[in-house]
This record gives sequence, structure tokens and C-alpha cells, in this order.
Amino acid sequence: MHEKRGMILKHRNDVVNGKKITNAIASELFNINDELLLDLSDAANYVTRHFYGSKVDIEELANIKKNFCSEDCTFCSQSAFFNTEITGYELPPPEKIVEQALNAKNDGAGSFCLVAAWREPSGSDFEKVCTIIDEINKKVGISVECSLGFLTAEQAEKLKKLQVKRYNHNLETSRSKFPEICTTHTYDDRIKTLKIARNAGLELCTGGIIGLGETRKQREELILEISELEPEEVTVNMLVPMPGTPLELQTKLDITEILRVFSTLRFLLPKSIIKISGGREVNLNDNGQKLLLSGANGIISAGYLTMSGNTVKKDTEMINEINLET
Ligand code: SAM
Ligand code: SF4
Repeated sequence: MHEKRGMILKHRNDVVNGKKITNAIASELFNINDELLLDLSDAANYVTRHFYGSKVDIEELANIKKNFCSEDCTFCSQSAFFNTEITGYELPPPEKIVEQALNAKNDGAGSFCLVAAWREPSGSDFEKVCTIIDEINKKVGISVECSLGFLTAEQAEKLKKLQVKRYNHNLETSRSKFPEICTTHTYDDRIKTLKIARNAGLELCTGGIIGLGETRKQREELILEISELEPEEVTVNMLVPMPGTPLELQTKLDITEILRVFSTLRFLLPKSIIKISGGREVNLNDNGQKLLLSGANGIISAGYLTMSGNTVKKDTEMINEINLET
């Protein structure tokens, strides 16, 4: 036991001194005995505080195109394959999104992410999104991020010109689990778009959903795959089982399994923002604070794509309670 505690501290110190851990070490940390999980989480917190101090990043999302997506991702209430009875809409006029961006800025959000429920933007939809971004830049001045599905190189370059800071595209799960959760596109399609975004000079945000019925080994595969891409931001969703989707009856993951993911990600990507994303309120109750003290340093606030969430004010209070700040 003593020996393993020493091992965690050694790697913690290596990481704060700029040394990269190997996948083998990450695997050892990720699979640590339950009795040492708190040591792992404390060490991850030490690394987070070393690189980020007490700052927590708050992001708000705008669902700019809702529902009727052509893809069959089994977790997603916006897939046209499932009868989820949610209402949908096409791209709203720019003024509406500008107003949301302004509210997000006034709420205290540090970034604003435009998310669309489609496989990829059509030429005309992409032009409309560019107009929306341009208007936000002119009228609001908040860091804009996008999650628009697959991109061409030209589209990625256009986003870069429009000063989009970061592109989100999630791997969703491990390569070995992916064919069970989506058959309309491949894992490599997802990686290709991330590479296109990187080549255009955009920062990357990627991650996935845990709790899809994957094994612990597959969660380990996912975090190693994420770390290979060296994203500036990692987004970890915890499945919200949506009525009407094939995963509607999926059981929740235990908090200990979630802690392993956040803590090990911090060792692998010490300088990245690691964000607690969809499912925080539903899956964690008060455990959101535990994750912010074990590797996570960001949250999505004020609701998700098809669900409401806590207000930024409530989340800020939750953050201040543990002596962190936004
Ligand atoms: N359609 C684009 C795509 O798939 O890349 C844009 C992003 S998609 C609308 C938003 C993300 O929300 C997904 O990548 C997934 O990680 C997350 N998500 C969707 N449904 C979820 C659920 N039921 N529980 C947790 N996260 C979910
Ligand atoms: Fe479509 Fe994205 Fe939902 Fe998959 S996750 S069904 S691509 S909106």
C-alpha cells in the first residue's frame, strides 16, 4: 500500500516538473485499488492547482440546430432514428444567438459554444453559421467555440479566420466500443475532423461520454486515445439516458469510476482544461465538487443541448463553496 502511495506521489511530482507520463503509468494509475482512489484524486488536484490555481472555466452552450440528425448515435436524443419526442428547429436568425451570447457573457461565462445536431454543415448552413459568428464577434466579444460535426479543410480555415478559438468534436467512446454506439460513421471519420481542425490552427476540444455500458478497460482506451490528440480541452459527458433512445435504461456509473477518469486525465494532460460536461446534475448530485477537486477545472453551465441545468449563479456558488473561483 505504502509503495503505491509513493508511486502516485512520484508521478505527481514528475508531472508538475513537466515530465510526460507513459501510457503504462497512466494505466497503473487508472486501475489503482479503491482504497487508494482518494490519494489519486488528491494528487490530480495538486497538479490542477499547480497549473491553474483556483480558476474554474465556465462555458455555455447554444444549440443552434436541434433534432432530426441523420446519424444513429445510440445515446443521442437528437438522432432522427429514435422517437424521442423532442421538438426541433433549424438555424435561428443571428440576432437570437447574439442575444444568447450576450446573456452568457453577462452571466460570467468565459466561452460560448455553438453546437449543431447534424452530421456536417451543408454549404448554405455553414455560411449562415459564419454570419452568426461574425455578429457575435462584432456585438458581444466572447470567446467562440464550435461543434458542427464533420468539417472540410476549407471550412476549418474559415472558422480560424473568424477567430473561432476551439473546435469540439468528441470521440464519444473507445475505438472498440464505437461500432456498438454508431453505425452511420466511423471512429476514424471523427479523428479525421479533429486533425483537419488542428491543421487549420484551431485549438481542439474532444472527449466523450462515459456510462454507455463500456467496460473499465474501454474507458481506459478512451482516455489514452484522447490524450494522443493532445487537446487543449477535454470534455467528459456522463450519459443522461434519454427516453426513446436505445440507452434509455442504462444504469449510472459509480462515482468511483468517474473519479478514475478525471484524475487520470489530469495526469495525462496536466495543462488542458478538463470539463465536467453533460450529465453533471443528473449523475453527480453533490459530487461535482469532488471532481473539481480531482482533476476537473471546467464545467458547462446553464443547461445542455436538450436539457436544462443549474444556473451560472448556482454553479458559481457551488464553486466558491470549495474555495475555487470563476
Ligand atoms: N452533431 C455533432 C457531433 O456529433 O459531433 C455536434 C455535437 S453533439 C450534438 C453534442 C455532444 O453531446 C455529443 O458529442 C455527445 O458527446 C454529447 N451528448 C449527446 N447526447 C448525450 C447524452 N444523452 N448524455 C450525455 N452526453 C450526450
Ligand atoms: Fe447527430 Fe451528433 Fe447526436 Fe450523433 S451526437 S446523433 S452526430 S447530433
